[in-house]
Amino acid sequence: MGRLFGTNGIRGVFGEDLTLDLALEVSYSLTTYFRGKNLLVGYDGRHSSPLIAQVMRAGMNALGTDVANAGLVPTPCLQFCVKSLGYSGGAMITASHNPPEYNGIKAIAGDGVELSREEELNVEEIYFNKNFRHVDRKIGEQINEDRAITSYIDNIKSLVNVDLIKSKRLTIVLDLGNGAQAVTAPKLMKELDCKVIAINSTIDGSFPARGSEPTPNNLDLLSKTVRENSADLGIAYDGDGDRSIFCDEKGNVYGGDKSAAVLAEHILSRNTNARIVTPINSSMLIDIIASKHSAKVTRTKVGSIEVSREMLKINALLGFEENGGFMYSKHIAVRDGAMTSALMAELIASRARRLSQIIDELPELYQHKAKFKCTKEQGIKIVEELLSNARGRTETLDGVKIWFDDYSWVMVRQSGTEPVLRLYAESNDSKLLDEIVENYSKQIRNITDVSG
Ligand code: MG
Repeated sequence: MGRLFGTNGIRGVFGEDLTLDLALEVSYSLTTYFRGKNLLVGYDGRHSSPLIAQVMRAGMNALGTDVANAGLVPTPCLQFCVKSLGYSGGAMITASHNPPEYNGIKAIAGDGVELSREEELNVEEIYFNKNFRHVDRKIGEQINEDRAITSYIDNIKSLVNVDLIKSKRLTIVLDLGNGAQAVTAPKLMKELDCKVIAINSTIDGSFPARGSEPTPNNLDLLSKTVRENSADLGIAYDGDGDRSIFCDEKGNVYGGDKSAAVLAEHILSRNTNARIVTPINSSMLIDIIASKHSAKVTRTKVGSIEVSREMLKINALLGFEENGGFMYSKHIAVRDGAMTSALMAELIASRARRLSQIIDELPELYQHKAKFKCTKEQGIKIVEELLSNARGRTETLDGVKIWFDDYSWVMVRQSGTEPVLRLYAESNDSKLLDEIVENYSKQIRNITDVSG
C-alpha cells in the first residue's frame, strides 16, 4: 500500500499530485474514518484552498455527515474550534509554509490534534481500498461556523494576564507574510491594547512579500519596521499561522530554540515539575532551562504531530520545534502562532528588561544547520554509514544523532517533505562546532556525491 500522508499531512502541487479527485476521496475516507455526525473544515489563503475545501465539504455531505465551514482561518484556530466547539473531527486545507503552487489537507481528530501516525494508516487503508461508508443515508447539511475567530481569540486571552499586557501598551510589529494569521493576530493584539503595526498583511496565496516561511534570513523588513517605530517586539508567521518567529526591540531575529527557551523560562517559573516535549533536533537550551525548574524534557522524532501526540500522552504543559512552532497545552497541544504571541507579550510585560536582554541571559550555545540535495536512497545510505563510522554515544530515534560531549552533537536526517538531507549541529564551543560541521559535511559529500 502506498502512502498518502507525509510528515505534515497530505501535501502536493495542486492539480498535479493534489487534485480535486484526490481531495474528494480523502473527504470520503475521513468521513468513513470519523463516523462523526459533524465535521469542521477550514482553509488558508492559498488560491486553491477554497476550492479544495468546497469539494471536501461536498464529499462529507454526500456520505451523510453535516459539515461546518470555518472559512479562512489559521490552522491552530481550526484545530482549537474542532476541540472546543464539539466537532467529531475536521480538515484544514493548507500547505503551511510550502511554495504557492502547493496545497495540502490536514486531518484533525476530535481533540484538535492531527491524527496520529497509526490513525493515518487507518485512513490510508480506507482510501486505498476505497472502503467508503455512508455515515447516514441522508445528504448532510452545511452550516457556517461563525464563532471560530472569536472563540479562538477569547480562549487565548483567558490564558494570559490581560491587565498586565494592557498596562504596558506595547508596540508590536506583525509580519503576517500574506498568510492566515492576518485574520486573527492583529485583532488579538489590539484587544490586548497593543499598538499594532502590520506589514505584509494582505492575504495573498502567491506570498509575494517574503514567501510563506519566516526564517531569520528573510525578515529584514520586520527588523527595520521594529527599529524605525521603536517597537517592543516583532513577530512573523508562516502561511497558515501555526509558526511564529520573534524579533527583539533592536531588530535581531531569533530561531525557535531561543524564543522557546525564554517562553519556557517564563511559563515554568509559575509551573514547576512540568513536562516539555520537543523533537530530537532541537537545542540543549531547553534542557538547561528545564533543569532549573525541575521540569522534564521528552524528545520525539522530528514532526509537530509527534510532539503534539506525545504531549497529550504524558500530559505535557509545553512543546516546541526549532522552526518556531510553540505549543501550550492549556490552550491546545498544537503549534499556535497567536497563542505564542500573547505569551511573548505577557513575558515582555512582566519583566523590567527588554527582549534582547532577556535573550542575552540565555546560556551560550552555538548552532549550525545545513541541507544537502539528495534522493531518499542516498539519504538512507548516508545515515547508515555515519552511524557505522560513529564513535561514542549515538541515537537513532530519527536519522542519526552523534554526541561528542554533554553539549556537543551532530544530527543528520532525511527530510520528510523535500528531497534533502538535513544536518543540525550544536556545541558550547564554537571552534568544536566548526570542526564538527566541516567534518560531517565532508563525510556526507564523500559517501555519495550530493551537493549542499
Ligand atoms: Mg505552518
